[in-house]
Amino acid sequence: ESKKRKKPDWLRVKLPVGKEYAKVRKLVDEHKLHTICESGNCPNMGECWGAGTATFMILGNVCTRSCSFCAVATGRPPEYDTDEPRRVAEAIKLMGVKHAVLTSVNRDELKDRGAEIWYQTVIETKKLSPETTIETLIPDVKSNWDALYRMIDGGQEVVSHNMETVESLYRRVRPQAKYWRSLEQIKLTKEYGKRTKTGIMLGLGETKEQVYKAMDDLAEHECDILTLGQYLQPTKMHIEVAEFIHPDLFDLYREEGLKRGLKYVESGPLVRSSYHAERHVNV
Ligand code: SF4
Ligand code: SF4
Repeated sequence: ESKKRKKPDWLRVKLPVGKEYAKVRKLVDEHKLHTICESGNCPNMGECWGAGTATFMILGNVCTRSCSFCAVATGRPPEYDTDEPRRVAEAIKLMGVKHAVLTSVNRDELKDRGAEIWYQTVIETKKLSPETTIETLIPDVKSNWDALYRMIDGGQEVVSHNMETVESLYRRVRPQAKYWRSLEQIKLTKEYGKRTKTGIMLGLGETKEQVYKAMDDLAEHECDILTLGQYLQPTKMHIEVAEFIHPDLFDLYREEGLKRGLKYVESGPLVRSSYHAERHVNV
């Protein structure tokens, strides 16, 4: 194996510890609750759960798309479960989640892109846990703006949509998505009155200039918050890591992002799009 591919020290996983973490851990086990934090084996679980933040996936676990970095199964998803909003809201209440991140697969086969389930999940969560703040990490609605507006109308505090990478890598990384369409979705989300957020993975072969261009495009499309983290290959079947980005470069990117007009930039090797998500509510 080439030296380039060996994981550097700064990517070593932090062990989950702490009293809050242990409390949530126990509830999750007792009630067999399902979180992305666990199924994705996220290195930040100790920190996020300790801070009362957790991520839940809705609309099933089969996706109509096949992004080359993603471990979710591709296929025709089964009928969705109309009881899911209630169950997710109950899990959030049971776990005592203070900041819930909701995300979903893409449901391109649905006329409303899953918007109604999105809406109901936010509404049910706010009903059972009025103090809990919500970030919805929504899919590409493929220019179905009515679906977008329904999706973001439930009272969530933050609406994120991940760009994932720079423009030139879209065909390889997000083949069914379009760079400018995702930017437009972010802009319309902002115009609808929502706090906007996006995430980009680094280490896929992008150049610095391309990252800066993406930052400029995001600022222009009124994105408030940007997360930058290291891409890690989930299995050998997925797109390879081109480069491990040094923590110093992540720091430089944070400064550059702020200079270029983004309001908040979370940047570091282990940053995932929902990392420190509770801090983004007040941006
Ligand atoms: Fe969960 Fe996201 Fe935090 Fe990872 S970064 S533990 S997925 S909330
Ligand atoms: Fe994975 Fe989302 Fe792409 Fe589906 S749309 S393959 S869930 S990243």
